[in-house]
Amino acid sequence: MSRATPCIILGLALLAALPASAADGLTALQCPALVDTAAGKLLGQTTVVIDGNRIREVKAGFVAPDGARVVTLPTGSTCLPGLMDMHTHLTSETSRDAYSEGFRLNDADIAFKGAVFAERTLMAGFTTVRDLGESGGGVSVSLRNAVNQGLLKGPRILTAGKSIATTGGHADPTNGSRRGLQPDPGPEDGVVNSVDDARKAVRQHYKDGADLIKITATGGVLSYAKSSDNPQFTVEEVKAIVDTAKDYGYTVAAHAHGKEGMRRAIEGGVTSIEHGTQMDADLFPLMKKHGTWYVPTIIAGTFVTEKAAEPGYYPEIVRPKALAIGPRIKSTAGAAYKAGVRIAFGTDAGVFPHGQNAREFELMVEAGMPAMFTLQAATTHAAELLGMSSDFGSLSAGKYADVVAVPGNPLEDITLMKKVSFVMKDGVVYRGAEAPARPELGKRGRATV
Ligand SMILES: [Zn+2]
Repeated sequence: MSRATPCIILGLALLAALPASAADGLTALQCPALVDTAAGKLLGQTTVVIDGNRIREVKAGFVAPDGARVVTLPTGSTCLPGLMDMHTHLTSETSRDAYSEGFRLNDADIAFKGAVFAERTLMAGFTTVRDLGESGGGVSVSLRNAVNQGLLKGPRILTAGKSIATTGGHADPTNGSRRGLQPDPGPEDGVVNSVDDARKAVRQHYKDGADLIKITATGGVLSYAKSSDNPQFTVEEVKAIVDTAKDYGYTVAAHAHGKEGMRRAIEGGVTSIEHGTQMDADLFPLMKKHGTWYVPTIIAGTFVTEKAAEPGYYPEIVRPKALAIGPRIKSTAGAAYKAGVRIAFGTDAGVFPHGQNAREFELMVEAGMPAMFTLQAATTHAAELLGMSSDFGSLSAGKYADVVAVPGNPLEDITLMKKVSFVMKDGVVYRGAEAPARPELGKRGRATV
């Protein structure tokens, strides 16, 4: 906690308000400054009036409607909408042992880790995330449900379940196993090799309770396989996935590093390209023509580059891929911004330790994006990518009461995004000097996404 002098008013307000029924009744959240992400402006003193788990109104100055609990944030604080990370993996985390975990961990082991990673993510200010590829059978769906039921502290999770891959491709769960050790996976396990398989895999995801679809359109860095960038789906397979996904109201996220696989994914109609390492002047116009979102995950590239220098951290088959791909993402992201490609914030958390997601903001600024743009990427843009702009992305009437604060002006110092000092999700305070240790856990059954 960076706050040296806890605010008396905040303390009294929260003691009165929590933990009995923090999400019920009116709360007047008084922010010394507030980032209006919809307008791209920094406002001065502003009060966010919250009714239950939604924002009722946003008013200039410090006001307190009759009967409202007043929460005044410390002098110098700046409020922002809850942050949204469009690329996380809440059921895994990098380590020297990661490559043997598939042989050692049961789903229950993965679930307990996921609970810790979800809480770290929320406490870092990320109130909504996409989970783009889980470890374990259905653990991310269970994790989402447990958070929605109030059993665990975590962000709102929209999960893709298991990434859909082709045989031997990035996210084939048997990569690196000796032949015969594991059965040949099929569409039920998220591995497809035809248009029919592709349709079945999407329908299986619906049956399994996923919220969206993720495909691995090209090779990847961390899989136990040689290529980081070769195309791994036909255009017909991508189209079959996208068309079937539409039947279920699903969007489709596509992991892609190489150009040909990326081109097929864009032309096949995916919603977002993840990483996009070799995206260039040939592909920027195609991205814009199709309205495809770009989620750069610069921090993942930076982290794997750093770790590839440590002998033995990654298997030898992975190391050259990390050194080839990692350093390129930042310059690609800068060029895509200049070209006017739509960009949403995403990190690939899990490839680096959970909770460090906000480092992505400074890397985006280093890539050439204005600080305000990076904040919008994690709020208004992310909400638009999800098709949920009426619920998320700005602090305005009718939206979910997801609010974070940082101790200073993030437009002047973007590294403040790593020092989130206040977190409210769904009208409940999870972080702040006086937030209760376990607010309302287990008492609420509302599923909000
Ligand atoms: Zn990923």
